[in-house]
Amino acid sequence: MSVPFSPAIFSEKRKRQMYLVALLLGLPAVLLAWQRYGDENPFIGWSYPLLAGLLVFWIVLLLIRRIPIRWTEYFVQTTLSLFYLGKYVVLLNSPASAAIQNEIHAVFWVMAILFILGYILANQTVALLLALAYSIVTLGLALWFLYPERYDLFVEVFRLQVRVAVIALLTFILAGIKDDLNKAERHATTLQLAANTDTLTGLPNRRMLNALVEDWLKYRPLFCALLVDIDYFKDVNDTHGHDRGDAVLRSLAEMLKLQTRETDVVGRWGGEEFLLLLAVQSAEDGFEMAERLRRNVESLQPTGLPITISLGGTINRVSRDDLDALVKRADQALYQAKAAGRNCIRWQE
Ligand code: GH3
Ligand code: MG
Ligand code: MG
Repeated sequence: MSVPFSPAIFSEKRKRQMYLVALLLGLPAVLLAWQRYGDENPFIGWSYPLLAGLLVFWIVLLLIRRIPIRWTEYFVQTTLSLFYLGKYVVLLNSPASAAIQNEIHAVFWVMAILFILGYILANQTVALLLALAYSIVTLGLALWFLYPERYDLFVEVFRLQVRVAVIALLTFILAGIKDDLNKAERHATTLQLAANTDTLTGLPNRRMLNALVEDWLKYRPLFCALLVDIDYFKDVNDTHGHDRGDAVLRSLAEMLKLQTRETDVVGRWGGEEFLLLLAVQSAEDGFEMAERLRRNVESLQPTGLPITISLGGTINRVSRDDLDALVKRADQALYQAKAAGRNCIRWQE
């Protein structure tokens, strides 16, 4: 039985490293472009040194680790948006040419990428509002600078706007679907956990144990199944009350869990019976572990009452065993332990 699990894709540290590498690569690229085109293009002339300064600032921000990475992300997003908005205004005011038209296209594609980044960084509604605000501003600027004198370019810019708006809207819808799926998955995980857990002890319940035994039979070369049953438990209830009985079950569960390995299975089979699956090297190994548990319950009295346990154990029969057969052998062994006077272990080959 697999439990859904969604790890964070990138740790803070990994993100920091990624951004640092990107910014350290970006800095010489901006400086080179400035040196090459700064003289002929006045926009590059003044804005690229500014951008280089910002890049240095971001790098310093990333190196000072106390500042949350999220702030750096918002800062990058905001300054890039403003930078491209500035570039856009300059382009709208440049004399028409194929090169200018290409650059306007490029600005819109960068905007689309920034919108998508916005959905990754910010909450979905904020990202959509920012995308809308950005669209209104760019459309307003196009109207202001181009309409009606440069009607053809205005229409072109308007068409780009529509495309980018469609991308922003689709991203919004996709982000919503992703959110819903995440929520549904979390809900399903909670339900699955509840359906597989015993409420009294917090251990896997019988339903989960059945699945785990099937798993172990399929994938484990050698293991031991142990049924643990409290001796004369009815008397505990009769003498000390049902609540105290419950407390005994809880503390025994805790002890069984503590005295086995993380990778072993301890579950509540029902009533005052527990089923343990233990990885072992041999049947003797399993018997020794069972004996240690029996002895510890008897001597440590983990429940605060002088209770004892009886145990029935068996080893899996590789490739010719199933859930019923395995549990039946452990149950027969447990029955023999009870018949032999309790507080002991019996084994079925
Ligand atoms: P034996 O040594 O033969 O196992 O005797 P026993 O009294 O332990 O066995 P029996 O099957 O006669 O009684 C089991 C008792 O466990 C009866 C039932 O009331 C009690 N029990 C089962 N589930 C719970 C539970 O969740 N809480 C409490 N407090 N008691 C429980
Ligand atoms: Mg019982
Ligand atoms: Mg019992």
